[in-house]
Amino acid sequence: MKRIIIVGGGIAGLGAAYKVTRAASEGHGIEFVLIEKDRRLGGKIQTEIVPDPSEKGRFIVDGGPDCFLTEKPACHRIAKLTGIFDDELPTDDSRKKTWILSRGKLHQMPDGVMMFAPTKFIPFATTGLFSWPGKIRMAMDLLIPPKKVVPGELNDETLESFVVRRMGRECLDRLAEPLVGGVHASDPSQMSLAATFPRLLEMEQKYGSLMKGFIAARRMVEEMRRKYPPKPGEKPRTFFTSFVNGMQQLTDRMADAAGRERMRTGVAVTSLQCADNSRWNAQLSDGSTIDGDAVIIATESWAAEPLIRPHDQAIADALANIPTSSSATISIAFNENEVGFDLNAFGVLCPLVEGHALMAATYSSIKWPGRAPAGKVLLRGFVGGPHNQEILKRPDEELVQIVIAEFRDILSLNPFAKPLFTRVFRWYLGMPQYSLGHLERVTMIENRSAQIPGLALAGGCYRGVGVPNCIESGERAVSKILTEWGIDLAEDHIEEKRYY
Ligand SMILES: Cc1cc2nc3c(=O)[nH]c(=O)nc-3n(C[C@H](O)[C@H](O)[C@H](O)COP(=O)(O)OP(=O)(O)OC[C@H]3O[C@@H](n4cnc5c(N)ncnc54)[C@H](O)[C@@H]3O)c2cc1C
Repeated sequence: MKRIIIVGGGIAGLGAAYKVTRAASEGHGIEFVLIEKDRRLGGKIQTEIVPDPSEKGRFIVDGGPDCFLTEKPACHRIAKLTGIFDDELPTDDSRKKTWILSRGKLHQMPDGVMMFAPTKFIPFATTGLFSWPGKIRMAMDLLIPPKKVVPGELNDETLESFVVRRMGRECLDRLAEPLVGGVHASDPSQMSLAATFPRLLEMEQKYGSLMKGFIAARRMVEEMRRKYPPKPGEKPRTFFTSFVNGMQQLTDRMADAAGRERMRTGVAVTSLQCADNSRWNAQLSDGSTIDGDAVIIATESWAAEPLIRPHDQAIADALANIPTSSSATISIAFNENEVGFDLNAFGVLCPLVEGHALMAATYSSIKWPGRAPAGKVLLRGFVGGPHNQEILKRPDEELVQIVIAEFRDILSLNPFAKPLFTRVFRWYLGMPQYSLGHLERVTMIENRSAQIPGLALAGGCYRGVGVPNCIESGERAVSKILTEWGIDLAEDHIEEKRYY
């Protein structure tokens, strides 16, 4: 029996563990042991079920990710395999509206905006979100020739340089920055476009203009919807998907399916040793050790760095060079009749140029049906990010007060609305920043780790921060090791599409 030691019980580590279990069920003589530093599994995926203080019912509070991108297949595949596909939760698109704060006023995201490119003329022409010079500059995207690219090279640039070059600074400040800030908690002036949104570079080359590219994409989506309308009884396919009991339903189910008896929590791996290029040994913080034939390090980059340094200095240096930012989500529940503002929306984005502490807010129980009992509402504020790391030094109670003050100021929350409960989730160094050079760094890390038998890396710090990307990275790490052992898994030959 060959054993893989998995370090880290976030979604990437659990993705790896569950893949090992599936391989074992195919008859291969392999097993895993997973070590997680925290007392709980799931890493950044954390859901708290809060009973309604006054009546029957419950709130479902996601502290980290609250959804995944529907078009990516990995979560659907795992949901099907583990029997929770029917618990996938689409957004309530009858209330789909996003507010953006601009010059102190809330504006509705114009209909037809895809990413940050308008694809419908009338909503774009009539929105007060942009000034007229700003709109004219954005429309110039239709005329500006694409950047000359050198074939075979990465042709990378920052998101800021790309957006400003194609659509102008106002589009960056008022739309691209808050949208991207929300997704990546990142600074567009540092973000590598090739590592985060490579499709934009492709679109520019293919269509000569982002707007033309997104108009084509929108028409394709509309065509697909016409051709394949939802079957009777089928859930609508919305842009984002979650789970009925919150995102932790996925990690809980993966841990059950992989086998919790092989997972140890509340103990950290403090160092890794390798003998004869084949026997690995993990020292744990409680003084014990674990032997294995391979190791998958599925931790944050900064936690992987000291573990890998004795084995490869260059990989450790590259990991140390992946910047991270910290953030916090603050969830607050109210009686719906007390909030005093229109709740028919998914949330609000606050561009950095507006000078607020709040980066974004989600009306969680509006966007996701069932997140709050009838008559109650659950709101979630997002603070921190690369431009406001200092705010994380404030105690929980202050963060709550800051977010309530921001809700009053930005959303016109009734000053007499009384929170039913509050929850603060802090994510220190929780979001890797894919800065310029990220893809070269990751390629180097992959090439060098390919030379170390029995070692693989996984997680959101490499090729995609999204939950589905992390699952796939854990699975790829297992495949790397099984290939070294000459094991060919039947499931690796099944196309993802089959599952969804
Ligand atoms: C606030 C927030 C909101 C987000 N929203 C979304 C979203 O809506 N949709 C989406 O797709 N993505 C979202 N993301 C990104 C996504 O949640 C993460 O990229 C993903 O969960 C990371 O998973 P992971 O397994 O790579 O890492 P983690 O979840 O960080 O897991 C790594 C684990 O390793 C453990 N560990 C570290 N060192 C050791 C050690 N020495 N020994 C043992 N264990 C160790 C840690 O305790 C941790 O549990 C969000 C992220 C944040 C922070």
